[in-house]
Formats: sequence, C-alpha cells, structure tokens
Amino acid sequence: MALIVQKFGGTSVADIGRIKNAAAKVKKELDLGNRVAVVVSAMAGVTNQLVKFVEELSPLTTDEAWREYDQVVSSGEQVTSGLLALALHEMGIPAWSFAGGQVPLKTDIVHGKARIHSIDAQAIHKALDNGMVAVVAGFQGITPDGRMATLGRGGSDTSAVALAAALHADRCDIYTDVDGVYTTDPRIVPGARKLDKIAYEEMLEMASLGAKVLQTRSVEMAMNHGVVVQVLSSFADAPGTLLVKEEESMEQQKITGIAYSRDEARVTLTGVPDKPGVAAGIFGPLAEANINVDMIVQNIDEIGRVTDMTFTVGKADLDRAIAALEKARPVLQYKDLTADKNVAKISVVGVGMRSHAGVALDMFKTLAEKGINILVISTSEIKISVLIAEEYTELAVRALHQAFGLEKA
Ligand code: ADP
Ligand code: ASP
Ligand code: MG
Repeated sequence: MALIVQKFGGTSVADIGRIKNAAAKVKKELDLGNRVAVVVSAMAGVTNQLVKFVEELSPLTTDEAWREYDQVVSSGEQVTSGLLALALHEMGIPAWSFAGGQVPLKTDIVHGKARIHSIDAQAIHKALDNGMVAVVAGFQGITPDGRMATLGRGGSDTSAVALAAALHADRCDIYTDVDGVYTTDPRIVPGARKLDKIAYEEMLEMASLGAKVLQTRSVEMAMNHGVVVQVLSSFADAPGTLLVKEEESMEQQKITGIAYSRDEARVTLTGVPDKPGVAAGIFGPLAEANINVDMIVQNIDEIGRVTDMTFTVGKADLDRAIAALEKARPVLQYKDLTADKNVAKISVVGVGMRSHAGVALDMFKTLAEKGINILVISTSEIKISVLIAEEYTELAVRALHQAFGLEKA
C-alpha cells in the first residue's frame, strides 16, 4: 500500500463538476489500494479576485496590510478543501478537510511569501490511519503568532511537496491543466513536446526562469527531500512528466527546454564613477530594501573613469528600486538613471549544456537572424538567459524552440 499526495490546481477545481472529477481521481488511487492525502488550490480566478479586493483598499506598504492580505487571500483554498471533502463524502468516501493551521503547517512571519518551517504530520497520519482521505488547503500555513500566512503565488505546489516530504509519501502527483512539463509553455508554442522525464535541476531552472507549471520552491523542496514528483493532467488519463535525478534523465540533446519571464524590469545607471566599491555601493541600498537583483552587466569605459551598470529587478519592485537608488544618488554620483518595464527574459535550459559547446552561439545567432537585440546576458552551468524587448517574447521563444530541435516529432 502506497501513500500518495495528490495536488489539484485552480483549473482542476474550477467548478463543482471539476471538483467531482478531482474526487474521482482520488477514488481511483484509493481503488488501487493506496492511501491518499490531497492538497487543493483555490478555484480558478478566485485568488486573483481576492488579491484585487485587497489592492482596491490598500497599497500594501505595511506589515499590517500584508497580514490582512494573507487573511483574505488564503480563504480561497479553505473553500475548496471543504468542497472536495464534501464531494468525497457524497461518493461514500470518508474525508476530512484541513486548513493550513489545522494541520498544522507552520511558517515564518513573512506575510505574502512565507516559508514553511515545519509540518506536524500527526493529525494527517491519524486521519489516514482511520481510513479517511485528508484534504488540505494549499498555499497557506500559520505563523508563530497564530496568524494566517500564504506561501507566494503558486504556493499550493510547495504545500503539496512539503506535505509529501513530511508524510514520507511514495509520490506527489501534481494535477494541472496540461498533461506534463513541456519543452516550453504549450500556450506559446503549440508544437511544444511533452517531456516524459526532466531532471530536478532543469525543472528548478525552468521554474525559476518563468515556467509557472511548478512553483520554484516546490522543486527546491522536492530535490532537498527526495520527493518523487509527477506533473500530470486532471482531464486526461495518461502518465505525465516525472522529475528525476540528473543521471536518470535520458534526454541527450543540448537543450531540454525554454522558459520566458515578463516579470522583470531593466535599470541602467550611466556615468557611475569607476572605482572599487561601486557595485557594492549600488547593490547595498537595494539589498537593504529587500529587492532581489537578477541579471547584471557592467560596461568598461575606455578612459576608465566612469562606467554604466545595467541590471534587472522584479517588475513589482521597480518603483522601490528607483526610489532607493535616487536616495543614494549623492553617494553613488551616477549621471542618469533609466528604467524599462517592457522587457522579457528568455532562457534556454538543459543539463546537456555541460557536455555540449556552442549553445550560447546558437542562441545568439538565432536571435540575430530574427533581428532581436540582446540587452543583457547571464549564464549558469545549465542555462543561458538573455534580456530582450518584451514585444519579441513569443517570436524569440518560437525561434529558439525550432532552432534547438525541440518540436514534436
Ligand atoms: P495550476 O493552477 O494547476 O497550478 P498553473 O497555471 O499554475 O496551473 O500551471 C500550469 C500552466 O503552466 C500551464 O497551463 C502552462 O500554460 C504553464 N506553463 C509554462 N511553462 C510550461 C511548461 N514548460 N510546461 C508545461 N506548462 C507550462
Ligand atoms: N491559489 C494560489 C494562487 O493562485 C495558490 C496556487 O494556486 O498554487 O497563487
Ligand atoms: Mg500553479
């Protein structure tokens, strides 16, 4: 008898019919003789609506506002957990719903993007031992001071993997609206190919570079705790994509997938005095304001006295980044600050890059042939990212997908 954690995303529980469909997936697993704990998202669109309500009332600039944001925004998952438990009851399957705090799933106090500290799995184990299905509200936990916390958008994936780790589950099945992880977002490239397997490292890069099919932290957690994760469709009856260790990933090509993100903005400081400590001077105030900087490029001036520095921050952080840099201007003594929100980051990802040379060249050539200018480049061992004008996002993704031979056979 195996213990399976099933997670149903927003579209998979979007209405009562789909909740019944999810309940049928639970029953199927039970009929195989397995025990099942379920993690649910809010019904599709509900979280967005709740966020909108909050934003209509508050600019979300204080800790107190974020605390109430979590109280409001976490409510969607509580509704679905109860509804799915009811759907199971109606099918004659005993089930018990749990809010995050009833598990309890304990988090830190960073409202809006809390991290999981621990999960006390006793109550869930007890429910399962009593022959029940445990239905847990995803995306939420409870802070040390007993307040609701949410885990960041897409956080139900992380709830599911964390629960699977805490329960020592045999597998964590992530049911969603696509039948697996594809070579790129199938909504942008209809010819994208479903992958049977993807290495954890590649999935981590894909997720953190914009592929929203799994929340980045869920992949990190699966890697760290050795959780077996499968991504599959709640609307089809077919195997999905299995996350595997790198040595088990059979993909031999240079590139496994392509990700894109429209979530970043470019900042350029020109005429910055070129002397030791300048980078620390620029990034210090940003770090203090809790702003993550992603891609960075510094020009070298021929005369060697002034330099330009270009980098990216999250679009949502841009205004705060500009404010922090303007405040530090008397110290930094840069000439100009320019910023652009209309940029996109396109990344090619694959463990194959470790053993194949020339990926960067192929990428740059492909973009050049399409007349797409590269603003910033950053690389790691298994990925290359470029920043381009946002209007070319789809063109770039499609061209690269084709150039690297990733389409369906
Ligand atoms: P859920 O609500 O089930 O959590 P999400 O919308 O968060 O679903 O994630 C699934 C979506 O991720 C898909 O509909 C797809 O558009 C998008 N996506 C982006 N990149 C990929 C990829 N490489 N493979 C599969 N889906 C992807
Ligand atoms: N409902 C939350 C969101 O939309 C969490 C999730 O779906 O994973 O971000
Ligand atoms: Mg999701």
